[in-house]
Amino acid sequence: MRNKTLKICWLYHDIMDLYGDKGNIMTLQYRCEQRNIECEVQTCSLGEKIDISTYDILFLGGGADKEQALIVEDLRSLKENIKKALDSQTFVFLICGGYQLFGRYYMTSDQYKMEGLGFFDYYTEAGDKKDRCIGNVLISCELEGHHFEVVGFENHGGQTFNVDSPFGKIIKGYGNYRTGEFEGFYKDNVLGTYLHGPLLPKNPEIADFIIYKGLKKRNPNFKYTDLEPLDDYFELQAKGVIKKRLLDK
Ligand code: GLN
Repeated sequence: MRNKTLKICWLYHDIMDLYGDKGNIMTLQYRCEQRNIECEVQTCSLGEKIDISTYDILFLGGGADKEQALIVEDLRSLKENIKKALDSQTFVFLICGGYQLFGRYYMTSDQYKMEGLGFFDYYTEAGDKKDRCIGNVLISCELEGHHFEVVGFENHGGQTFNVDSPFGKIIKGYGNYRTGEFEGFYKDNVLGTYLHGPLLPKNPEIADFIIYKGLKKRNPNFKYTDLEPLDDYFELQAKGVIKKRLLDK
């Protein structure tokens, strides 16, 4: 008998998957497995309709402009479906291209404007094609009173402005925009970030934070500290290597 079940909906798994974003799903599965929590992953791609509000976590990865253009209309057709999921406390986890499309719009460097879902007031505009934010990133976050240092890899042309509630403060790297001080977006049950890498394998604390938020949907009294600790020796070694490389620069 499993302890609990975590249901994940993975949107556009076959289109939006850059720099190992899939590893985020694998990490969530692995960390649930280790704790005897059943983890069900349901993919949902173009034209498929499922009730997202019945899932604990919604995941959408990143993509190049071409992939974003391919899914954006279909994504907009899911607006009410996603709104219902947001209102019912499904935890929404978004990477880069996916993160951009939950805001007002994304304007590519070719001046092609993709209207986003508009759930949040941030918007994204790309500058010159050659002017991309690329490299490893180190940020410092405070999520529900827990302090985390997070590493990841970014590669985006889009510069995201007007984020009222960022995921973390930049220690190294660019984040939301080249000259800004903050990375990503976090509010209640939504986490959007530019960090690929993939993000979760080398940031087990964030993986657990997402698992906790997902489980909380159907177990309102569940706390982050209720998750049984795992041996994260290798994960933290990996994070340490990147951190040292960035800080020694
Ligand atoms: N195409 C978007 C940009 O360049 C998102 C890229 C990504 O998901 N890494 O800003």
